[in-house]
Amino acid sequence: MKINLQPIGYVNRGILNFLKDKLAEIFGEAEILRPVEINRRCFDPSRRKYISTCLLRSYPVFEITLFITEHDLFADRLNFVFGEAELGGTRAIISLYRLKPEFYGIRDGELFKERALKEAMHELGHVFGLTHCKNPNCVMFFSNSILDTDRKGWKYCELCSGKISGRVRLRL
Ligand code: ZN
Ligand code: ZN
Repeated sequence: MKINLQPIGYVNRGILNFLKDKLAEIFGEAEILRPVEINRRCFDPSRRKYISTCLLRSYPVFEITLFITEHDLFADRLNFVFGEAELGGTRAIISLYRLKPEFYGIRDGELFKERALKEAMHELGHVFGLTHCKNPNCVMFFSNSILDTDRKGWKYCELCSGKISGRVRLRL
């Protein structure tokens, strides 16, 4: 299975390359596409964040695509979201904004990469049809805060892997 990584505007190259290598390892193939410009119409001036659903639907795709932005996102009643995806669809989006250790006053490049991988795996899991998992170690566990993200692993648990095994061959 091929995963396209679609940067929206400027995105940290180190993170992009890291995600590409990891996702290629896990799913078989991954490619970084040329960046697209951010859709300014998805910006909510009063909340000073982008509407994730709007961005997700702004760009047509033909293959499974993970959009990546450095901007802060929100959706509906949620003050912020780490990402969003079309359940059983083709598109997912993650924001690096709140994954940066600098956001919490620390510097840690490895932690940043790990968080990005977890959020990528989580949103892609939704694309593959997975809903949230009750297992706190599973990457499909819902992250209410960065602490949940840091606590969970980056893999799908056995139950979740089993559910998508017909569609996705994982090389974990
Ligand atoms: Zn989710
Ligand atoms: Zn699970």
